[in-house]
Amino acid sequence: MHFTRLEIKSTRVKNYFQKDGRHFIELEENPFYEDGAGGQIGDRGFIDEARVLYVSDLIEIDRPLSAGSTVEIKIDVERRREIARQHTAQHIISAVIEKDYGAKTVGFHMGEEDTTIDLNGTFNIEETENASNEIVFSNLKVEEIILTPEEVSKYELRKDLSEKAIKSGNVRLIKIEDFDLNACGGFHVGSTSEIGIIKITHPERVKGGLTRIWFVAGKRALRDYQMKSEVLYESAKIFDASWMDLRSRIQKSFDDLREKNSTLKKVSEKLANYISKEIQPFEILELDESVASFLIRIRQDIPYAVKIAGTNNVSFSLPNYDRIRVMDLAKTLGIKGGGNGPIYRFAIKNPQEFMAKIKEI
Ligand SMILES: [Zn+2]
Repeated sequence: MHFTRLEIKSTRVKNYFQKDGRHFIELEENPFYEDGAGGQIGDRGFIDEARVLYVSDLIEIDRPLSAGSTVEIKIDVERRREIARQHTAQHIISAVIEKDYGAKTVGFHMGEEDTTIDLNGTFNIEETENASNEIVFSNLKVEEIILTPEEVSKYELRKDLSEKAIKSGNVRLIKIEDFDLNACGGFHVGSTSEIGIIKITHPERVKGGLTRIWFVAGKRALRDYQMKSEVLYESAKIFDASWMDLRSRIQKSFDDLREKNSTLKKVSEKLANYISKEIQPFEILELDESVASFLIRIRQDIPYAVKIAGTNNVSFSLPNYDRIRVMDLAKTLGIKGGGNGPIYRFAIKNPQEFMAKIKEI
């Protein structure tokens, strides 16, 4: 594993300040890797008892520390290992896609859960995943080589050196045996087998005609597998089926439901038709939503109300009533809702009281 700055065990707090209740420090020597640098997520750990929350030019911590004091540094090495797995996996995936399909990596972003690579071409995801894992299983050595920009020019890199890298003097190359060579400043494993496994979870089309792939590697891949297995297994249990049959069972349930809904609609319409002939003026009925919605469309020539069962939603049919007077009455009684007439919809607990007042208009 190639890790830098782990040798710094203690340093001095150069500066400390508070802003909006958050705590920030500057260290004399900063061993913490910055968030976002080279597309990577940053280091975490402790500075004395203070937990590191975010690393940029300043370090955000969860409690105050005194400026000038000497502090003990503890870097979360396991987190670095996991970052190294994701990062080296990115080198492998990018190299596979470029070699096999000629598509170039134009962006890379690591998050706390998964990592994305933006590519400017088309490629087969399953084949890419298989070829990438072949590199993992082959246990290739991953080396770090420091060269001057002149020395680097003798090598063929996957990606040209940036202006910044050329100006910085020394260039750090990451070499995966004869498979890949690329300049990079992030964390990498010592051999590809440390990655464990690479899983591309899904692709996405993004701006500029690019394809973004989302992937997990190492412990993240294990966790992804564990969570997905659990969801599949628990979902299959609901259907009393094996996970292999789950998709067809869900499809069948959807088809059944669609058919039943269509039957329910027909029956509701028939029932609404039947009820519409029996309604008396100023009657208040309580019906299921599907029947109520048909009824209120079918019969609008007499005053009556339909309360939707299990709710406070009441539809009123009030033909030949002045809309302004209806709305004023509702407002006086503190009832919410409205309509353009003859149909009004109100949220109302006691429709009897409202109907009695309507009668008086
Ligand atoms: Zn790298």
